[in-house]
Amino acid sequence: MESQEETIIRQNYDGNIINNCEIKSSSEIYLIKQKISENYNEITKCRKTIKKSQNDIETLKDTLYELCQHTFIRDFSAAPDDIYKYYCKKCHLYRH
Ligand SMILES: [Zn+2]
Repeated sequence: MESQEETIIRQNYDGNIINNCEIKSSSEIYLIKQKISENYNEITKCRKTIKKSQNDIETLKDTLYELCQHTFIRDFSAAPDDIYKYYCKKCHLYRH
C-alpha cells in the first residue's frame, strides 16, 4: 500500500502526471505567485497615490507663492552654485 504522500496520481492541465506532493506544491506556488501579484498591485496603487500627492503639493506651492506677500531672506546654507539662494520667511518657499 502507498503512503499518504504518494497516493493519488493525477494529471495537471498540461497533461503531466503529478502526485499529491506536487499538487500541494503547485497550489502553494500558485498562492505565493498570487501574493506577489497582490503586492505589486499594492505598490502600483501607492505610487499613484504618491504621484497625486506630489502634484497636489506643487499646485498648493504655486498657489501659496502667488498669494504670499514674501519677505525673502538669504539662505546661508545654500552652496555658491545653488540656483535658490533666498527663501521667504513667511511661506518658506524659495524665490524663483
Ligand atoms: Zn512667502
